[in-house]
Amino acid sequence: MKSKKQRKYIFVTGGVMSGVGKGVAASSIGSILKARGFIVTALKIDPYINVDAGTMNPTEHGEVFVLEDGDECDQDMGNYERFLNVTLSRVNYMTTGRVYQEVIRRERNLEYKGKNVEVVPDIPFEVIRRIEIATEKANADFTIIEIGGTIGEYQNMLFLEAARMLKSKRPDDVAFTMVSYLPIPSKIGEMKTKPTQYASRTLNSAGIQTDIIIARASVPLDQKRKDKIAMFCNIRPECVISAPDVESIYDIPINFERDHLSTILCSLLKVDLKNRPMRCAAWRSFIKRSKSVKDEVNIAVVGKYFNSGEFVLSDVYISVLEALKYSAYKVGKKLKLHYVSSHPFEKDAKRIGELEQYDGILAPGGFGSTGVEGILKAIQYAREHKIPYFGLCYGMQLAVIEYARNVVGLKGAHTAEVDPKSPYKVIDIMIDQKKLMAENNYGGTMRLGAYPARLKKGTIAREAYKTDTIIERHRHRYEVNPEYIYQIESAGLVFSGTSPDGQLMEIAELPREIHPFFLGSQFHPEFLARPLSPHPLFTEFMKAASDRHNKAK
Ligand code: GLN
Repeated sequence: MKSKKQRKYIFVTGGVMSGVGKGVAASSIGSILKARGFIVTALKIDPYINVDAGTMNPTEHGEVFVLEDGDECDQDMGNYERFLNVTLSRVNYMTTGRVYQEVIRRERNLEYKGKNVEVVPDIPFEVIRRIEIATEKANADFTIIEIGGTIGEYQNMLFLEAARMLKSKRPDDVAFTMVSYLPIPSKIGEMKTKPTQYASRTLNSAGIQTDIIIARASVPLDQKRKDKIAMFCNIRPECVISAPDVESIYDIPINFERDHLSTILCSLLKVDLKNRPMRCAAWRSFIKRSKSVKDEVNIAVVGKYFNSGEFVLSDVYISVLEALKYSAYKVGKKLKLHYVSSHPFEKDAKRIGELEQYDGILAPGGFGSTGVEGILKAIQYAREHKIPYFGLCYGMQLAVIEYARNVVGLKGAHTAEVDPKSPYKVIDIMIDQKKLMAENNYGGTMRLGAYPARLKKGTIAREAYKTDTIIERHRHRYEVNPEYIYQIESAGLVFSGTSPDGQLMEIAELPREIHPFFLGSQFHPEFLARPLSPHPLFTEFMKAASDRHNKAK
C-alpha cells in the first residue's frame, strides 16, 4: 500500500514590529520549496474579528484581494498566489471572526454533543482543523502558515496556541520561523539585536521555540550578530537568515537560498532533498529582465485615495502595481508609476492638461462619490487626446458614464451608486443586490469571485486573450444598465466581453481605428497577473503606452 504523504507545516510569525515584509517572507519560503519540486500551499491568519477583509477600508488595511471563489481577503494572499503561482481558496484564509463564527455555528447545531465549548482548546482545535483542510485540499508537502500581527499582541495568542499544539502533536512535522527586525538607531549607528532577543523570549512564553530567525534590517547581518542572536535565541547560527532591504521583492527567495534556507528547513523537518535540485531558471530570468529594462514608461493611476500621506498607496493598489510591472517588463520597459489625485481636476479645469505628460492613464476600482467627477474628466481627456486608458471595475463604469455623457449626449448620466436620481442611470444596481442592501447586508454580498465571459471577434480584448472565453475575478454591486446598451453601442463604444448569456457587460472598448487603447473591464484582471505570466489586458495597455512613449521620444 502507498504510504500516506508526510505533511509538513511551517509557521511564520512576526517579532518586534509589523510591516517588515512577513507576507513576502512567507511567500518566499514557499517559493524556494516549490522550486525544489514540492507541492506548497499557504495560509494567512488575520487576528481581527472581521470575518473577511471585504468590509475593511483599503486605506487602513491595504488592498482587499479577491480569490477565485470570491473570498475577500488580505493582500498577502495575492503575494502567495503570485510567488507560488497557485490558486488559493477561502480555506487558505482565516480571521478570528471566521474561526469563532464556525465554532459558534457548530455549537448551535449540537455538534459538540452537549460538551462545554471552551476558548481553549476548542478555538485552537478549529484553527488546526482549518490548516489541515487547506493542506489536504492542496495535497501539499509543505503548508506555510503566516500568523498576522506581532508576537506579544494579545489577539494572536490563540493562533500561537494552535501552532504550539500542532507542534506537540507532530514534533517532526512543524517548524517555526520568526521574521524579526533589527533597527540601526541613527544616534548609535549600529545594528541592535536586543528587540529580537525579547521577541524570541516572548514567543518562548507562549511555549514556542523558533527554529529560524529571518533578520530583516536595512543592511545584511554580519557573523557577529548572527552568533549573538543564535546564542540568545537558542538556535544555530546558520538558522539566522539575513534579510536586508532589497531593490525588488522578487530577489528575496534568491537571497534566502544564499543562506541555504530550503536545505535548513528540510533538514529540520527530516525531508530528503536527494534528487531535488533548485529549479528557478524562469524566476531568475524574470529578475534579470526586470533589472535590465531601463527605458521608463510613465503611467498615471488616477483616483481618490491620494490626498492623505498617512497610508501607503502601493499597499492599496498592490495587485495593480504588480500587474503593471510584469507587463512593462514584458514589453521591455520599466514602470514609472504616478499617483494622480483627481480632486484638482474638479476645482481647476486647466489642470487636466497635466495628463498630457503620461504614456498611459489607469483608473482603478473604487467605491462612492469622492473624486469621481475628476476621474471622469481624466477619462474624457484620455479619450479625446488618444492617451491609452485602462479602467478597472469602477474605472470601466466611469468610462461608460463619460461616454454616455459626452458622446451619446445623455447629460447627467451617472451610476446609481453616486446619483440615484440621475435621469440616465447607465450604471445601475443589480436586482439581487437591491434586496441585500435593503437588509443592510453588506459583508461578502457583492458579485464576487470568478465568472466566465465571452469575447467578441475582432476586438482588442479577443486579440489580447487569444481565446473566446475567459474567467476573471469580480467585486462589484453595480452593472452597465441593459436599457442603454443599444444607444451606447450605436454611438461607437463596443461591449467586447459579456457574460455567456449576454446580459452583463464585462468589457467596454473603443475600436483601434478610433483610439490606440481605450478599454475598461467590469472585473479585476490585476488579481490574475503573475510575474511569470503577465495579464494579457495589462500587456496590451502597456504596448499602447510604450508606443506613445516611443513616439514622443
Ligand atoms: N463601486 C462599484 C460597484 O460596486 C465598483 C466596484 C469596484 O471598483 N470594485 O459596482
